[in-house]
Amino acid sequence: MAIERTFSIIKPDATRRNLTGKINAKFEEAGLKIVAQRRIQMSEAQAKKFYEVHAARPFYGDLVKFMTSGPVVVQVLEGEGAVLKNRDIMGATNPANAAPGTIRKEFAESIEANSVHGSDSPENAAIEIAYFFAGTDIVG
Ligand code: ADP
Ligand code: MG
Repeated sequence: MAIERTFSIIKPDATRRNLTGKINAKFEEAGLKIVAQRRIQMSEAQAKKFYEVHAARPFYGDLVKFMTSGPVVVQVLEGEGAVLKNRDIMGATNPANAAPGTIRKEFAESIEANSVHGSDSPENAAIEIAYFFAGTDIVG
């Protein structure tokens, strides 16, 4: 499998509980390299646009409110098959269904406050990375 990049967000429920380092350790232990990282306060406009694909879902308004409720850490992760690998490390969207050892199983508070975002395809990864990072911010 090829070396890929994926986009990751450590969500407000995790930054609030000071879990950035523990979550980053999971990525690094699984062989993903953090090649860009920035702690930001997302604006409502940014969160709305980022989650636009979910605009019709009943949880969209709450999700935007949650993602702007505190700092997040936006990241680019690099490694062999990084998109799928990161989805494995994250675990299922609903922590109740997440496998043991995954970030969401260990840290998520709820299906909404589930500690991390990860791109679902290489195509979306490229779009999401470009939304938050310039090429020169990423050092592989
Ligand atoms: P994932 O983050 O696993 O790719 P989705 O793309 O389906 O999941 O959803 C985006 C985010 O929206 C989830 O990570 C979670 O924060 C929130 N979310 C998803 N489904 C629900 C739900 N049924 N109720 C509340 N929030 C949800
Ligand atoms: Mg998704």
